This record gives sequence, structure tokens and C-alpha cells, in this order.
Amino acid sequence: MDSDIIPQIRQTVRQLCEGFPGAYWREKDRERAYPSEFVTALTDAGLLSSLIPEEYGGAGLPLSVASAILEEIHANGCNGAACHAQMYTMGTLLRHGSEEQRRKYLPGIASGELRLQAFGVTEPTAGTDTTSISTMAVRDGDEYVVNGQKVWTSRAEYSDLMILLARTTAKDKVAKRADGLSVFVVDMREVVGNGMTIRPIRTMINHATTEVFFDNMRIPASSLIGEEGKGFRYILTGMNAERILIASECIGDADWFIRTASDYARERSVFGRPIGQNQGVQFPIARAFAETRAAKLMVTEACRLYDAGEPCGGEANMAKMLASEASWAAGEACLQTHGGFGFAEEYDVERKFRETRLYQIAPISTNLILSYIAEHELKLPRSY
Ligand SMILES: Cc1cc2nc3c(=O)[nH]c(=O)nc-3n(C[C@H](O)[C@H](O)[C@H](O)COP(=O)(O)OP(=O)(O)OC[C@H]3O[C@@H](n4cnc5c(N)ncnc54)[C@H](O)[C@@H]3O)c2cc1C
Repeated sequence: MDSDIIPQIRQTVRQLCEGFPGAYWREKDRERAYPSEFVTALTDAGLLSSLIPEEYGGAGLPLSVASAILEEIHANGCNGAACHAQMYTMGTLLRHGSEEQRRKYLPGIASGELRLQAFGVTEPTAGTDTTSISTMAVRDGDEYVVNGQKVWTSRAEYSDLMILLARTTAKDKVAKRADGLSVFVVDMREVVGNGMTIRPIRTMINHATTEVFFDNMRIPASSLIGEEGKGFRYILTGMNAERILIASECIGDADWFIRTASDYARERSVFGRPIGQNQGVQFPIARAFAETRAAKLMVTEACRLYDAGEPCGGEANMAKMLASEASWAAGEACLQTHGGFGFAEEYDVERKFRETRLYQIAPISTNLILSYIAEHELKLPRSY
């Protein structure tokens, strides 16, 4: 049943994306402005709430449908990064929050009234070594007092809620390094300017990312999700969905690059013939096409396992790695095919080229995926 609706949903997304052509994204990119109109259109179409169960106001659809939505957004030249986190971050609340928290937040998130776009995990000194984060949340009566700093907290300025990972017990006081970390749902409307300070970071892409400072930020004790000290596990359970959905965006990017490169190679004539008649031009595009098809099979398999409730850590990681590499190869082929025009803003190639590069680094870098595969699939000693 669910897979039957995928072609229809793809069609809906395609039509929606027609209203947001390259000129829209170029202007946002130039101004480093948030694509509010695009996010509103996705919200109004009910696309961002596809994974929220029907009883909380969402569509209750499987991950394979969310994957198709994000792939289609990117294949049509748009970018889901302004709001993709809303799709999977709410999973922490859904799986580990209390019924009261679910009822309090999920219907508002589904309707778009409440924006859950911010996910505060990464810290400047800990980097990928998440269990070494030092932001501390200390219980004080009916509240927690939070001190510390996050970095790369994307969309914080455009979010009402933040899923925050903080230490509730210092690392040197826990038996296992993954213990003593807790997850909170923070109502940012209550704390911005009152313990929380957000500073935008200008980057090579338009990503609305920020650093966030906590200075004696007081939040209600009821903000805690699940059990105190178990937060690292809660965050981990959401990561497979995140990786699969990011991989889907990469497949969409790759499709866009391959289509754009092929169209240009057919039309552009140099030395009296289309440049696409030269094998030197054809082959990189053809190779990227094959790599993308292979990566897409891994994304499909990861979705299938995820939706069946089966373990899919290996497939989710491999899908993200292969898809981000395929989109980069496709971007490289597309830029090279366009020659000098690839550098001109109006072709959108240079923008997409910059945008797709991110996914070999965030939300997890390729080396860490290879380490995961080595340890978990090949049973080699853990390298870090
Ligand atoms: C635009 C953008 C948006 C982001 N959005 C968010 C967000 O919303 N929320 C959030 O919490 N985070 C976010 N991040 C952070 C992102 O998840 C991290 O940047 C990423 O996980 C890499 O961590 P790091 O930057 O600290 O790199 P580091 O951990 O410092 O690593 C640097 C390099 O060293 C390599 N390396 C490190 N350790 C090892 C090892 N043991 N073996 C081999 N290689 C290693 C890494 O692969 C990497 O290439 C975002 C980042 C960016 C750039």
C-alpha cells in the first residue's frame, strides 16, 4: 500500500518544486537567506510530517516515502536541508518521549505550528567524539541548569524547539563513556536571550548553521526525554533514519547533476559537434550514472530494512557513504562538462556542487563510516 503512493507523492513534490526555480535558490544563496517560502509550502502540503503517526496529526508513512520526498526535492534542483531535520529529529521524541511529551509537541510539529529544526549534538572540542561533549545540565529542583556550547547547530534561528544532548554526569564519573548523557527537548522561545545565545556561522553554502551558547540556561525538568543518563542511546537510534534520508538527498542531487550534464553535453557544440559525442565527456557522466544507480539500490535496501524494523546500521551507513560519493562524482562530471559556464551562478551547477560536498562530512564523515564498517561488518578492532 505504502509503496503505491510513492509515484503520487513524487508527482506532488515535483509540482511543488516547480514554484521554486533556480532563481529562487540563487537569491537565497547570495543573501544567505532562509528559504521560508519553500519550507512553508512543504509544511502546508503535509510533506514534512510524513513520518509522524496519524494519531499525532501526521501521515504515518514509512521511511521509504520520506526518502522519496527528499530525493525528489533534490532531483528537482531544490534543497531539503532547511527542514529535513524536522522529519527525523522528531523520532527521538516519538520513540523515547513520554506520552505527555508526544501529545504536547507532535501535533504542533505535524501542523507546522511548532518548528523542530534544531539538533544540538556537535561541540567544538569534542568533534566526532560525541561522548566527550562537555555541555552540562545540572538538576536544580524542578529545573535543569545548562552551561556549555554547541557548534554547527543548523537552523537554530528558525526553530521553536531544539533536541539537545548534554552531560548530566561528568565523563570521569561514569562506568561507560556513553553513560551520563541526557537528551532534552528545549523550548527555544523561552530561553533565547535568557540563557541561550545563537550566533550564525557563515559557510560556503546557505545552511543557516550556528553556534549556540548556554549560560546558566534554566529549562523545566520535564524537558528531559526518557531516562536521565541514557540519552546517547536515544540519539543513536535516530541516526540510521538520518543517514538514509541524507543519502536520499544525495541520490536526488546526483540525478540533477547527471540530467543537467547530459542535457548540456547534447546541446553544446564545439569543433562542429556536440561535446557529448566525445568519450572524454561521456564517460565521467556515465560512470556517475552507474555509481548513482548502485548507491540508490543500497538506499532502497536500507529503507526496506528500516521499515521492516530490522537492523540496518551497516546499510544506512553504506548508503550514506556511497550516495554522497556518487553525488560528488556526478557534480564533478557536471561541472567539468559545463567548462567555464559551470562557474557561472546562473547555471546552478556551482551552487549544487558546493551543497552536495557537505554530505561527505555531515552528519557523519566518510572516515567514521569506514571505521563503522570495519568494526561492525568486518569485526576488525575498533580504531578509535
Ligand atoms: C554545514 C554543517 C551543518 C551541520 N549541522 C549540524 C547540526 O545541525 N547538528 C549537529 O549536532 N552537528 C551538525 N554538524 C556537525 C557535523 O555533524 C560534524 O561537522 C561532523 O560530524 C564532523 O565532525 P567535526 O566537524 O567535529 O570533525 P572532526 O571530528 O574534528 O574530524 C575532522 C576530520 O578528521 C577525521 N577523523 C576524526 N577522527 C577520526 C578517526 N578516529 N579516524 C579517522 N578519521 C577521523 C574526520 O573524518 C574528519 O574528516 C554540521 C556540520 C556542518 C559543516
